[in-house]
Amino acid sequence: MSSILENIATALTAVADVPVEASIFPRLSDDDLVLVQAKLAELRRLVDARSAAAAAHIAHRSRRELGYGGLAQRRGHRTADALIQSVTRSTRQDARALMRVGAVLRESQVEADSPQLWFGNIGEAVARGDLSLAAADAIRTGLGMPGDRVGTESLREATRVLVTSAQTLDADVLFTKARALRDQLDAAGIADREAERRARRYLRLAPLADGMVRLTVLLDPESAALVTDAVDLVTSPRRGGPRFVARAEKSRAEELLADERTTDQITLDALVGMVKIAGDADAGTVFGNRRPGVRVLVSARALERPSGHGRIEGRSDPVSIETVERYACDAGIVPIAFDDDGACLNVGREQRLFTARQRMALGARDGGCLWPECRRPPSWCEAHHIDHWHRDHGETNVADGVLLCRHHHMLLHDNHWQIVRRGAEYLLVPPDSIDASRTPIPLPSKSSALGDLLVEQRVG
Ligand SMILES: [Zn+2]
Ligand SMILES: [Zn+2]
Repeated sequence: MSSILENIATALTAVADVPVEASIFPRLSDDDLVLVQAKLAELRRLVDARSAAAAAHIAHRSRRELGYGGLAQRRGHRTADALIQSVTRSTRQDARALMRVGAVLRESQVEADSPQLWFGNIGEAVARGDLSLAAADAIRTGLGMPGDRVGTESLREATRVLVTSAQTLDADVLFTKARALRDQLDAAGIADREAERRARRYLRLAPLADGMVRLTVLLDPESAALVTDAVDLVTSPRRGGPRFVARAEKSRAEELLADERTTDQITLDALVGMVKIAGDADAGTVFGNRRPGVRVLVSARALERPSGHGRIEGRSDPVSIETVERYACDAGIVPIAFDDDGACLNVGREQRLFTARQRMALGARDGGCLWPECRRPPSWCEAHHIDHWHRDHGETNVADGVLLCRHHHMLLHDNHWQIVRRGAEYLLVPPDSIDASRTPIPLPSKSSALGDLLVEQRVG
C-alpha cells in the first residue's frame, strides 16, 4: 500500500473513534461543543483539499485529448466529473466544484513560478486547510479572469485580501465581496459583466409525467429586482417583512399569516394571478392577437348533471367537474356539436355569463373578492354566478354574479360552498362538513365608492 493510502487509513480509524453517540454531547460545555464543530470543519477542509487535489489529477488523466484511453473513459464514464461523482457518491455539482478547486491547487503548484499565476494564494490556503472549497470557489469565480483592463498583479493582490477575510466570512459574503473588488478594479468592465449575466437568463417549462409542469428560471439581477419585489409585496408578512401600521395593511398581513397555504404556494398563486391580469390588460402587445387562457373541454351532458369530468385543452389529465364549472362560471362556454362518428357539426355562439360591462358593474359594486376577510381587488377576481348557470338559459343579470378571487372561487366550487342572494344582500352558505346548521355568513360589499354613494343618497 502506498504511503498516502496508509495515512488515510490511519486518519479514518482516528475519525471513526470520535464518538457520535447522543449521550456524549450533553457532557460538553458550550465552549467545547462549539470548538468541536470548528475543529471538525477544519478537519473537513483538510480532507476536501486532498480530495480536490485527487480530483484534479483524475481530470488530468481523463483529459479530452486522451480520448477513450483516458482514466474516466476506460472506467466507462464519459467525463471525469461523472467518474468523480460516482466514486464520491455526491452530486454532479459537488464533483465539478472539487475539480475546479483541484485545478486551482494543481496549477498553483505546477505553475508556481509563472508570472501569470494569480490565484496561488487561494491554492496555498486550501492546502493548509484555511480555506473551504466553497470559499475558494467563491473567490475564484467572484474575481473572474484577468483581462485587458485587470492584470494578474492586481488580481493576485485581491486574492490576498480575500483569503485573509475568509477567516471570518462565509462563502456567500465572500463571493459578493470578490465581485465588488473586481468591479472596483475594473469599473469599465461593469457593463460587460452585466451583459454576461443578462445573457445567462432563462425560463424553462418542463412537463412531467403526472401532468405537473416544472418551471426553472434563472433571473438576471434587473429582472430579479422586479420579480422579487412583486413576490415580496405579496408574501412579505410571511417572510418577516415590515410590520404594518395602517389598519388595512395590518389586517391584510394577519390574513396572510392565517392563510392555510404555504408561502411557496401563495407565491405561485400570485404569479399565476399576475399572468391572468396581464392577459386581461394587454392590448395585443405582449401576447399578439390571442390572449393567454385556459380552454376546458367537457360534454354537455357532464356539465348539465353536473358529474363526470372535463379536460384542459392540450393536457392529458382529466379535471373535476367542479373545476369545469368554475371556468364556465367565469369565462363562459362555446358549444360545439359532434355527430356520432365524431365529425364536427357546428360551433355555436360564445355564451358568456357576464359581459365586460357587467364585470365593471360587479367591480364597482363588490369592490373585490366578497369572501370574508379577503382583500383581493377586482382585477384579481373572477365572476361567480350564484345559481347553477347552465340550468336556465335566460338573460344573465348582474344581481346573479359576485366577484371572487381565484383562490376563493376555487375553494367555493371544490368544497361546495354556496352564495345566495337576499334582496341586495349576499350570503355565504357553508357546506355540511364545515357547519352542520349551514348558517349563512353575510358578505358585505368591499367597495368604498359604493359606500360613498349610499351615504350621499341617504343625506341627499
Ligand atoms: Zn363560480
Ligand atoms: Zn378571495
